[in-house]
Amino acid sequence: MDQAFRLLIDGALVDGVAEMPVINPATGRAFATAPRADAGQLDAAVASAGRAFPGWAGLSYAERRAFIERFADGVEVRFEELARLMTMEQGKPLVQARGEVGGTIAGLRYFAAQDIGSHVIRDTPAERITEHRSPLGVVAAITPWNFPLILLVVKLAPALITGNVVIAKPAPTTPLTTLLLGEVAADILPPGVFQTLADANDLGAALTSHPGIAHVSFTGSTATGKKVLSSTVDTLKRFTLELGGNDAALVLDDADVAKVAPAIFGAAMVNAGQVCLAAKRVYAPRAMYDDLCDALGALARAAVVGEGLDQDSQIGPVQNSAQYAKLIDYLAEAREQGKIVAGGAPLEREGYFIAPTIVRDLPDDARLVREEQFGPVLPVLPYDDLGQAIAAVNASEYGLGGTIWTGNPERGELVAMLIDSGTVWVNRHLDLPFDVAFGGAKQSGLGRQQGIEGLLEFTQAKIINIAKG
Ligand code: ADP
Repeated sequence: MDQAFRLLIDGALVDGVAEMPVINPATGRAFATAPRADAGQLDAAVASAGRAFPGWAGLSYAERRAFIERFADGVEVRFEELARLMTMEQGKPLVQARGEVGGTIAGLRYFAAQDIGSHVIRDTPAERITEHRSPLGVVAAITPWNFPLILLVVKLAPALITGNVVIAKPAPTTPLTTLLLGEVAADILPPGVFQTLADANDLGAALTSHPGIAHVSFTGSTATGKKVLSSTVDTLKRFTLELGGNDAALVLDDADVAKVAPAIFGAAMVNAGQVCLAAKRVYAPRAMYDDLCDALGALARAAVVGEGLDQDSQIGPVQNSAQYAKLIDYLAEAREQGKIVAGGAPLEREGYFIAPTIVRDLPDDARLVREEQFGPVLPVLPYDDLGQAIAAVNASEYGLGGTIWTGNPERGELVAMLIDSGTVWVNRHLDLPFDVAFGGAKQSGLGRQQGIEGLLEFTQAKIINIAKG
């Protein structure tokens, strides 16, 4: 690809200090180069953001809204280019990439329309006490490689509308769509309001510990999230951590296998299973177990796996070689400890393709059951007693999401109340409206994104307390 990608620093599109190859996971070969920023460029970006902050924070909501709306218009103009670029760098089928770009535009517009305003606590002849929400300052938005744009926009848009300025740092294997977003913003947003820094996984710590950063909004693994948490201590930064999950799909004995199997398959295999909120283990009543395993196996065999740009592809490659190697490891263990119903191996072709895999009869302590696999490999476990199944679902250090599948939504709600996680869906999955907060319990995260709570995370309360008369 001839296109040059550049960092956006202080309103200018600039080269990095070095270049790094970006690999197309469908081929395993480099298809573009990305600029690589260094610590000096990071400092320059933080300084620029610091200069931009007072002006941006001083605008009214309506003025900021107009900028963000124009930004959304600019992204819309580059819609197809962004979607194709996302498929090339990330691997997901084009229809899913288009969905993500569409969600990015919708997210910008949704948050642009919000206004958290002020609130009168008391107003009497003797006193007036009001609460205002002030922006925090410079926000570092650090994103992973599974959803490079939508996971950025749920940080960027609420941070901007509430008056913060943002430095985005994408994952090193998927920097290009974020850089293109910066290119769009360069002509629209004032210098320093939104900036992009691409790194080779080496600037995260400098960014999160930087005294010029007020808030770190991080989405990534629990292990890296813990490093982020400790690096915010010195300056008492605010932070939001969206981390890993090992979400269970719990099938109740009144569910219809023919109905739930395709829904669970979709919940597990979307984006090749690389979703923090994907269904990562399935629990089914023993009487239904064989039927469900067979139905999921048939879906796995029928799924079209291929390059994302190919119209027919339903499941793309996994995103990078490290994840591919990790999944091959899980598969070897699954073959040893359980029974493969479908798939079970990488495809014999170039690129990081794993056949969609259904595994049954694994012990509860198998790594594929206990750990977050983050790939198109799904373990299915039987249960005899619902109480035990709920205990097994909750016996995880994670608590991000989960699903209950049932013929009776009221019963589903009662069971959902017993699941220890931030979101539990009943008879649906991955429904994440912008006005609904989401986030993790236990080691799946701290804080919330989206909804009113997500907006408030980018602000602090300021009380004005007046004695009258
Ligand atoms: P993975 O292990 O799957 O690559 P990570 O959670 O490490 O996922 O990565 C998520 C994001 O965090 C990426 O943008 C990555 O570059 C960034 N990152 C990596 N190390 C750190 C760190 N020490 N501090 C902050 N961000 C980091």
